[in-house]
Amino acid sequence: MTDRRPVPFIDLKAQQARIAVDLRRRLDAVLAHCQFVLGPEVAELEGALARFCGAKHCVSVSSGTDALQIAMMAEGIGPGDAVFLPAFTYTATAEVPLVLGAVPVFVDVDPATFQIDPGHLEARIAEVRAAGRLTPRMLIGVDLFGQPADWPALAAVAARAGMATLDDCAQSFGASLGGRMLGVMADATATSFFPSKPLGAYGDGGALFTESDARADLYRSLRTHGEGTTRYEVLRTGMNGRLDTMQAAVLLSKMTVFPEELAARERVAQYYDSRLGNAVVTPTRVADSTAAWAIYAILLPDAAARARMQDGLKAAGIPSAIYYPKPLHRQPAYRDAHDGAALPVSENLAERIMALPIHPDLTEDDLSRICDAVLAHA
Ligand SMILES: *Cc1c(COP(=O)(O)O)cnc(C)c1O
Repeated sequence: MTDRRPVPFIDLKAQQARIAVDLRRRLDAVLAHCQFVLGPEVAELEGALARFCGAKHCVSVSSGTDALQIAMMAEGIGPGDAVFLPAFTYTATAEVPLVLGAVPVFVDVDPATFQIDPGHLEARIAEVRAAGRLTPRMLIGVDLFGQPADWPALAAVAARAGMATLDDCAQSFGASLGGRMLGVMADATATSFFPSKPLGAYGDGGALFTESDARADLYRSLRTHGEGTTRYEVLRTGMNGRLDTMQAAVLLSKMTVFPEELAARERVAQYYDSRLGNAVVTPTRVADSTAAWAIYAILLPDAAARARMQDGLKAAGIPSAIYYPKPLHRQPAYRDAHDGAALPVSENLAERIMALPIHPDLTEDDLSRICDAVLAHA
C-alpha cells in the first residue's frame, strides 16, 4: 500500500530531540540566573555568531524586521530617500523603508537564480535620478531562499551611486560566496531567527553584522531606546529591539548542530536536483557559493501546471508552499509606492514557483516519496 502519512514541511520536533540535553542545560541556566534581558547568553551568542561568519561585530536584536529597521535608522534613512530592493522577496524587506518614511524602489530579479539583478538595479538608480524626486540612499540586497545575491556586482553598483548597502540575509545565514560567509558582504547584514529559518529560535529574534565599530555602537544604542553610555542618557530616537536571553540560549544550543544541519540541507538539495532535474526546473546554483537552503523552489511551466502539481502532492501527503504568490509591487500595501516600472521576471516567477519540503530531518524514505509524487505530476 502507498504510504500517505504527511511529510512535515519543516520538522522542529525532530530537531528538538537531537539537541534535547544541551537545550535543557541552557534553559535551566537562564532560569537559575533570571537575567532575562541582556543576560550573559546574549553576549556569548553574539561572539559565537560573529566568529561563525567571520564578521567583526554581531549585535543581536528582536527580529529580522527590527534588524532591517535598526540598520536603516543608523544610516538616517527617511523621507525623500529611495531604498532599492528586489520585488521578489518577503514583505519585511519593503515594509521598513515605508515605516521610516522612505520610498521602496522595486528592482527585478535574475530569472535563473531569483536574486536581485545588478543590471536592473543600475537602470532603476538612473530612473530615480532622472525623475529628480528622491535621493538614492540605500540598496537592500536579499539573499533569497538560502543562496547569496551577487554581492561583488551589487557592491560595485552601490558604490558608484554613493549608496549604503544592507544585506537582508534572513533566509541565508550560513551560506557563503567566494569562500566568505554571508555577514561580511555589505555595510550591514541583517538576519532573522524566526523559527522556520535555517537557524531558528523558539520565537522571534534577529541579528546585525558589521565590520564598522561606529555602526555596531549605533545598533547597540538603537536597540535600547537610543541610550548613551549610561542607561538614563538618551542620545537619539531608538526602539525596544533586544533579543531575549531565552532565545539566545536556544540559539547557542542550535549552533552546536548548525554546521551538520547545513550539510544535511545540501544533501537534500542534491537529492532533489538529481531526481527531479530532468522533469522540472530545479534551482540554478549561484556560482562559487554554498547555500543554506531555507527554501528549495522549483519552477513549473505555468500557474495551471503548478496548481495540478500542488493538488497531486497534497493527495500523496506531501506539503508544498508558494514563495511568493505576488511580487511586492502588486501587493495592496505597496502598490501606491511603486513608480509603475515593469518587473516581468518577478511577475512570471510568482505564477510558476513552488517550494518543496527541505529540512535536516527528511529521511531517505520521505525524499523518495516526495520525488515520486513530483515526477507523477510533472
Ligand atoms: C523572514 C524574513 C524577514 C523578517 O524576519 P523576521 O524575523 O520574521 O522579522 C526579512 N526578510 C526576509 C527576506 C525574510 O525571509
